[in-house]
Amino acid sequence: MQKMVSLCKRRSFIFQSSEIYGGLRSCYDYGPLGVELKRNVKDQWWRTVVHGREDVVGIDASIIMHPRVWEASGHVSGFTDPLVDCKKCKGRFRADKISTETASLKCPDCGNEDPKKFSEIRRFNLMFETHLGAVEDSASVVYLRPETAQAMFVDFEVVQAAGRLKLPFGIAQIGKSFRNEIVVEHFIFRSCEFEQMEVEYFTRPGEADKWFEHWKEERISWYTGLGIRPEKLRFREHSADERAHYAQACFDIDYEFPWGWDELEGIANRTDYDLKKHSEASGKDLTYFDPQTHEHITPYVIEPSAGADRSVLAFLLDAYTEEPPPPGTKNPRTVLRLDPRLAPTKVAVLPLKKNKPELVAVAREIVRGFFEKGINAFYDEKDSIGRRYRRQDESGTPFCITVDFQSLKDRTVTIRHRDSMKQDRIGIEDATPIVADKVF
Ligand code: ATP
Repeated sequence: MQKMVSLCKRRSFIFQSSEIYGGLRSCYDYGPLGVELKRNVKDQWWRTVVHGREDVVGIDASIIMHPRVWEASGHVSGFTDPLVDCKKCKGRFRADKISTETASLKCPDCGNEDPKKFSEIRRFNLMFETHLGAVEDSASVVYLRPETAQAMFVDFEVVQAAGRLKLPFGIAQIGKSFRNEIVVEHFIFRSCEFEQMEVEYFTRPGEADKWFEHWKEERISWYTGLGIRPEKLRFREHSADERAHYAQACFDIDYEFPWGWDELEGIANRTDYDLKKHSEASGKDLTYFDPQTHEHITPYVIEPSAGADRSVLAFLLDAYTEEPPPPGTKNPRTVLRLDPRLAPTKVAVLPLKKNKPELVAVAREIVRGFFEKGINAFYDEKDSIGRRYRRQDESGTPFCITVDFQSLKDRTVTIRHRDSMKQDRIGIEDATPIVADKVF
């Protein structure tokens, strides 16, 4: 994990926010490579769950919603974690993460097991509160959303009617969520500001189980289809006392992180709980008129809810490889074997020598060709060719194109494949189609 964190900083993937002021707890910035990787993860998700299917549409809702949304959903009263302080080392923890019983608490930092040396367990609401408008009174309190899901319930009727959507159908959204987490941990795994990728999939109540199974399979194949090793993924069923009170079934997709198995995505059958709650609280009819049975029904909801940041972390960790020094070199090779569709830079174009204007001109022409096709290419002329390849390997760039003296004679270049390090000689005109074939 430490190696990943330092690679992320070195190559400008992800680093501490506001670092010149000493950083801020659990706040991270995505640099030039990180933002590309995260955008690619979100694009792939959108392509698969929205563009890739007839039955799902997208929305982009406001982060600040009417405060009554959070009363109706149960978040104002119930979105809490149990907080406990260790009086010995002054550490603060989520009590449920260290023990299921108060009497057997053990401080994960200093090992304190003396029940007298722990504070009372208090409930702590995770929602960030702020005020809308100039007056900071209780009437102006609003919340930063702690999940994107509620917008899909609140907008259910307008989206369904506008698209004349027939059950089963889904509403998807990608966006920021905020939780004032008691413990932030493992780099971007758990932070207070993060992005979610969620679908609320509305079904007839009797078909909910079938669609639950469907989404479990869809979602796990999304990760493996983008290169995560299947043995590093598993389903974990929530026990009855762990499930949200409204959820009929809940499975996590766990990834085997360096600290152990932990949640990447949750898939829940939320039943008709949310639509009914919002209908009661708002007085609006949030039922669906079923043309088959001529009845008004409140659909059930299957919710695959993934974290964009946790996905980025899992893709990075899974792609990270250290190899023995390649023949003729001294240092081990670090390579990010990211799927070309996720790789931040798709191709690097390298003139063999930087002080040869003829080589530079051809390399620049090739870079322009990539940009014209919307392929994120990178021109690099600094240092020896070997060191340039290493930098690209570490950044996950799947292809390097090298312009050498033969290129000037016959308009061919070499294309080097990141994972095998194999090099082929190809015509300059073939470079764009070869790369395009793998990165879209
Ligand atoms: P955990 O048990 O790890 O706190 P959760 O069960 O509360 O997570 P959900 O409410 O199911 O999480 O949220 C769905 C997804 O959103 C999670 O699977 C995760 O990928 C992401 N997520 C939730 N909380 C955070 C966070 N604090 N930082 C980053 N991602 C998060």
